This record gives sequence, C-alpha cells and structure tokens, in this order.
Amino acid sequence: MNGIVLEGRRLGHSYGPTRVLDDVDVTIRAGEIVAVMGPSGSGKSTLLHLLAGLLKPDVGEVWLAGQRFDTLGERKRSERRLKELGFVFQFGDLVPELTVEENVELPLRLLGTRPAQARARAHEMLDRLGVVEHAAKRLSEVSGGQAQRAAVARALVHTPPVILADEPTGSLDTTTGELVLEAFVDAARDQGTAVVLVTHELRVASWAGRDILLRDGRVVGGSAAGDLTGASAGSVSA
Ligand code: ADP
Ligand code: MG
Repeated sequence: MNGIVLEGRRLGHSYGPTRVLDDVDVTIRAGEIVAVMGPSGSGKSTLLHLLAGLLKPDVGEVWLAGQRFDTLGERKRSERRLKELGFVFQFGDLVPELTVEENVELPLRLLGTRPAQARARAHEMLDRLGVVEHAAKRLSEVSGGQAQRAAVARALVHTPPVILADEPTGSLDTTTGELVLEAFVDAARDQGTAVVLVTHELRVASWAGRDILLRDGRVVGGSAAGDLTGASAGSVSA
C-alpha cells in the first residue's frame, strides 16, 4: 500500500453559526484518485479549501506528507502549498492580466525554474490539454473551458505530489473533460500523484479509484477501490 500523502482528521468548519463540515476524516495515498461526491452545498469545496490550507478548520487537523499543515504560519503554509500541491478551483484563481502560458508556468517560475525550461514545460502541458494554440493569449481572451484547461495545466506543471481539483471538468464537454481526466490518470500512474477530484457527476467519479460521499457536511459513505458503481455512489447521481 502506498504512503499517506494527505490527511484530514475529524475536520469541522462553520461559516458564522452554520456548521458546514462535521467530523470529516479523509486519508489520501500516493498514486490514488479519490472522488469527493455529494450534492450541491454538501461541503465539497469547503473540504478542499481546508485540505489546501486556504481555510483553517475550526476543529480537527490537516497533515501533509506526515507533517501538521493547518497550524503552520502563513508563510510556511504558502511555501509548502506551492511545492507540494496543485489545485484547480471552481472559480478560477488564474491571473486574468497574464497570458495563458504565463499563468501555467507561474508555479515553475516561483520554484526557480529557468524561463525557457518553464515555458517549454508549460507548452507541453497545454498541448496535452488541447489548448496550446491559445498559449500566447491573455487569460481574459479565452473561453471558460479553455481557461479551465489552463488551470489544470498549471496544477500539473510542477508535478506536485497532490492535486486538489474542484469540479475540474465542470465547464467542459465530455471529450474535453476526458483530456483532463486522462492527464490526472497519467500523473497518478507515472508520478504517483494523488488526485482529490471533487465532482457531482458519476461519470467523472468513475475515473477515480474510490469515492467519498458527503451529505450535509458529513461523510455518509464511500467505496473501496473498484466499487464505484455500487449503490452508495449511485445514490448521489439521482
Ligand atoms: P459544495 O462545494 O458541496 O457545493 P460548499 O463547501 O461550497 O459545498 O458549501 C457548503 C455550505 O457552506 C453551503 O451551505 C454553502 O452555502 C455554505 N458556504 C460556502 N461558502 C461559504 C461562505 N464563504 N460563507 C458562508 N457560507 C458559505
Ligand atoms: Mg463546490
């Protein structure tokens, strides 16, 4: 069994008086793709933000690569986030004033990769995701689906050990969505990347090795590897 790369222990979170996550445990291992499923409002995005260290849990702990993550100071947390995590957020956090390629190479540049090398690697990822012809356009000049694929390219560009992806195929058609899912599968298989894939679509979740089901902020089920078509997974697709 591969090692644990990311763990949420008894996570709880409230926005004001409303508790939106309660007693959630998740354990993510190297090389696995885990779908986080559940209806809208069940706490999927909040869970991802807690795991990314972008939101502090009110209760519980986050461990990244065997070290406590949520209690680190902001500077240390950002540093580790940059090196060890890649994310794709629902409401993109790419920089609209930069070009597509500048956005994608940003993690590499921050990590000290030389410009020509960073550019080449960014183009390689953009090509895999079918958007390399838009590389030199400003982000504000490409479609939502193209921007979403740029966000996926950026998450993968520095081969981080963990990727957190919030509805990464949300604005894509089936074929384009599959380019994204194939890129995750390849990273998991070839680099041992762990992918936490938030989705409410069973079709997308079927690419994962197992799933975690959330409802009203609690884990209400999940499948073991290879059991994604079971009754528990089916219940959220209704
Ligand atoms: P999901 O991603 O599964 O749709 P979210 O984690 O976005 O769920 O939201 C869980 C609950 O928390 C919802 O009821 C949502 O309205 C609420 N919520 C999310 N973000 C905020 C916020 N910034 N302030 C207040 N309530 C929020
Ligand atoms: Mg969400």
